[in-house]
Amino acid sequence: MLQVYTGTGKGKTTAALGVALRGAGYGLKTLMLSFLKDDPAYGEARAARLLPGFVLKQVGRDAFVNFRNPDPVDLKLCRAGWEEAKKAIAQKAADIIILDELNIVLATHMLPTNEVCEFLRQYSHTLEIITTGRGAPEELLKIADLVTDMQEIKHYFHRGIASRNGIDH
Ligand code: ATP
Ligand code: MG
Repeated sequence: MLQVYTGTGKGKTTAALGVALRGAGYGLKTLMLSFLKDDPAYGEARAARLLPGFVLKQVGRDAFVNFRNPDPVDLKLCRAGWEEAKKAIAQKAADIIILDELNIVLATHMLPTNEVCEFLRQYSHTLEIITTGRGAPEELLKIADLVTDMQEIKHYFHRGIASRNGIDH
């Protein structure tokens, strides 16, 4: 199945991680590719070492991504990350493949939505694929088997509370 977790509220990446945790209980293997990130301090990057069958690879870089005018380096990393994702999916490298932040990569045209959707449509019957991130494009929603919109009702960020270790990252 193809699952898409999108929307403005908190809970997209952590919902995907929840599936990985649940899957591990049944011996399912998860591969998570985190687009736009390269920071080993993330809780999920630390936890990957603790959960058998859970592999996380950050395919971005540790820098601010300018979505309005992305740096060529970021475009190159997105492309390389997507090529890796395609290979993993085609080879069925895991039972669950999480493409973290892919939605925003598509929304900001850092990868072509039609190319990505065409591939995901072909392979979503063969394994569980989860994409996360804000602003999932309509074309992706159309081919998904499940779409959840995390709607922000309230977030402590607006009270000036910054990202907390182990809770937000
Ligand atoms: P999480 O990883 O906690 O499940 P997320 O994947 O839904 O969050 P992202 O859009 O990937 O959210 O943003 C990542 C970071 O931004 C997290 O630290 C998260 O807590 C925070 N965040 C999520 N939603 C909001 C919001 N509406 N306002 C401010 N910060 C947010
Ligand atoms: Mg996220």
